[in-house]
Amino acid sequence: MSLFYPDMALKRVYDMDCEFLEKHDIKALILDVDNTLTTHNNPLPDELVLKWLDMCRQNGIKLIILSNNTYKRVKPFADSLGLDFVSDALKPKRTGYERAVQKLDTAKENIAVVGDQLLTDIMGGNRCGLKTILVEPFDLKENVFILLKRQIEKLIMLSYKKRRG
Ligand SMILES: [Mg+2]
Repeated sequence: MSLFYPDMALKRVYDMDCEFLEKHDIKALILDVDNTLTTHNNPLPDELVLKWLDMCRQNGIKLIILSNNTYKRVKPFADSLGLDFVSDALKPKRTGYERAVQKLDTAKENIAVVGDQLLTDIMGGNRCGLKTILVEPFDLKENVFILLKRQIEKLIMLSYKKRRG
């Protein structure tokens, strides 16, 4: 199986209901933040996500946040939800996942990684032998904008380097 393919693909995190989690033997979740739990850099998830997080807790599902975003962004977000977190994770590098797995103290076969990006969230989860679940990004427009922004940044840096020789 390709490292880029998720085991499962859903629209939103809250499509993982009680039955789904039980059926797939999932006892813990490693959650991405931006475009998985909320829109990019939004300090709060919406009502449906909050309800879903409560459902997970009530069913004894362990939760942890694993984000490539900064400590400054991730800490207040995780704190407001009462969740443990690993920020600046450098996904798809294994290190962050391994820290998250350690904190969850759950067998790997019972842990699923949830995220909106194949090249970071899913690839990293697959590399670590965890179940992987792709969700659709909350804000597609913003995503395209960010991608475009990165391309522009790349071009700027290229010409910057050229000028500096
Ligand atoms: Mg994301």
